[in-house]
Amino acid sequence: MNSLSKALLLLCCLTSACSIYAATDNSKIAVSLSYDDALASQLDNALPALNKYNFKASFYLVPNSETITSRLSEWRKAAQQGHELGNHSLFHPCSASKPSRAWVSDEQNLDHYSTARVIREVLTANVFLQAIDGKTQRTFTPPCFDTQAAGNDFIEPLRAHFVAIKGVDDSEHTVLWAPVNVTGQQLIDYVKNVPENVRLINLLFHGIGGDHLSVSVTAHAQLLAYLAANKDQYYVDSYINIMKKQEKE
Ligand SMILES: [Zn+2]
Repeated sequence: MNSLSKALLLLCCLTSACSIYAATDNSKIAVSLSYDDALASQLDNALPALNKYNFKASFYLVPNSETITSRLSEWRKAAQQGHELGNHSLFHPCSASKPSRAWVSDEQNLDHYSTARVIREVLTANVFLQAIDGKTQRTFTPPCFDTQAAGNDFIEPLRAHFVAIKGVDDSEHTVLWAPVNVTGQQLIDYVKNVPENVRLINLLFHGIGGDHLSVSVTAHAQLLAYLAANKDQYYVDSYINIMKKQEKE
């Protein structure tokens, strides 16, 4: 809790409004835990760890991922448990011309996409996701956080189709980090040391204890244990729930 929040809490307690203030999440920093690319290690390791604390997260699925066919019922169950199945496009296109993008195949290369094509594919991914979870509202994380196809913006036309777009709609009160191969203490230190004006911390994971860009099961568990032990300072929820709540405020 930052010093302003502490001062407000003290003031509330002194003026007998304490129970109202303490009962809301408004004084807390929101934490969005998200998991990209529909990876097996997320079903194996991230989901059970989240459910242990009843934390709701966002899983940004790519419908042509292997786990969508092999473990579809588990993704559906995750949605039923209250986790968000977010849109991460249909085929995960990224710009091959950016640094460290040698892995982007020709057919996945956003530099060769028209905006109409990327928009059509993203909206088709929504149809797939609705078939899994029955929902018509969700958020979007652009693959690689790329926002242009062959130099043309495709985010603006997509805005009307999503509650929020991660990494794009974020205000100055938001931070975002995609940790890779870090310790639990590094994750905790990051959360602890965000600037005082931050109201939303986005932690964007890929593999947990396996797959690509991974964070160990232990480090991930240590972060969740820290967040669970400090519920007076942080509230963890899916990105869609956090952004809907912020809209209302
Ligand atoms: Zn991705």
